[in-house]
Amino acid sequence: MIDKKKITERFINYVTINTESDPNNPAFPSTENQWNLAKILEKELIEIGMQDVELDDNCYIMATLPSNLDYKVPTIGFVAHIDTSPDFSGANVKPKIVENYQGNDIVLNEEQQIILSPNDFDDLLLYKRQTLITTDGTTLLGADDKAGVTEIVSAMEYLIQHPEIKHGKIRICFTPDEEVGKGAHLFNVEKFDAEWAYTMDGSQIGELEYENFNAASAKITINGKIVHPGYAKGKMINSMLIANEYISAVPSDEVPEKTEGYEGFFHLHDLKGDVEQTVLEYIIRDHDFDVFEKRKYLMQKIAFDMNKQLGKELIHVEIKNQYFNMKEKVLPVKHIVDIAEEVMKDLDIKPLIKPIRGGTDGSQLSFKGLPCPNIFAGGHNFHGRFEYVPVESMIKATEVIIGISEKVAEKYS
Ligand SMILES: [Zn+2]
Repeated sequence: MIDKKKITERFINYVTINTESDPNNPAFPSTENQWNLAKILEKELIEIGMQDVELDDNCYIMATLPSNLDYKVPTIGFVAHIDTSPDFSGANVKPKIVENYQGNDIVLNEEQQIILSPNDFDDLLLYKRQTLITTDGTTLLGADDKAGVTEIVSAMEYLIQHPEIKHGKIRICFTPDEEVGKGAHLFNVEKFDAEWAYTMDGSQIGELEYENFNAASAKITINGKIVHPGYAKGKMINSMLIANEYISAVPSDEVPEKTEGYEGFFHLHDLKGDVEQTVLEYIIRDHDFDVFEKRKYLMQKIAFDMNKQLGKELIHVEIKNQYFNMKEKVLPVKHIVDIAEEVMKDLDIKPLIKPIRGGTDGSQLSFKGLPCPNIFAGGHNFHGRFEYVPVESMIKATEVIIGISEKVAEKYS
């Protein structure tokens, strides 16, 4: 029912516009180039017949598909982000289309011998006989999250062209700067005015997520004292050696490379130091709120005990919360997940419900009063040159959006 050629063209149109965001620019949006896609989307949404299309001063685009029912049902929303990750270049994306994929190696770049192979990425084998869109090996693709944008626009267009499909009021929003953690910051939840929403920002077909990490950062500053090393006895304090002790006191098995599923971790991601001062930067992650709090406490406790032993306040710990597990906000309205799950089953999609080992815009939105689980957008290998998306998965995700719209109208009739 969804036109394959059209959805492919729409996606390629979006990914060839560079919208890389910038973690080092506090401006909003963080890069001017995000406006280029935002303006195209604004125009396109008007063209397909959406109402109240509005691109605001912070580069958020909202629009409405009015209800075609004669009774009232909850207003629901769909959200995707327009920026791409600064981890890898998003400039000059030259997508390649592989039709009727046979499970073989795909040469992305002949010259540089960049190969996308099922030996490295066995999920490719899920998509035999399908149409894959890949990169040319020199950039990311931007299926994260332009696949989500494509699916939402395509679903809205389909609903407009098929008024026989009954649905309530639907709100959509495209946000900037998700990849630099700011996508939800200036999201006007009141103006959006939906009872709940879904981010279309997951990966593999079937993914449905409503649990994510609780997250904090910890900055450990250790002050030392430099003295001529020949005459340092009893005087020099080497902050790097104290840092080494601190690092050793943090549980060594609770790190990203040794954890999965619901296991949390401490992740030392930056270390800079000399004798005078060493700074350690950690992130702390856990799905369980109590365990998360205990992890933060442990970071403080190690410093407290070491300071006591040193007889001086040399170690200073600064902890900042980053985001929280949306489960707390979604479980009380669990039917919003159940509806999505039912729709997937109706469409012969196997729901993959699992905890996210990270955060989404949806977790911040959930805490701002808009419960917001995450649904697959279809892409794989985000943030790098091996990113790809099967067109069939984008079509399925589009059908999930249409199906949810329909199901809400049915349930509340
Ligand atoms: Zn994303």
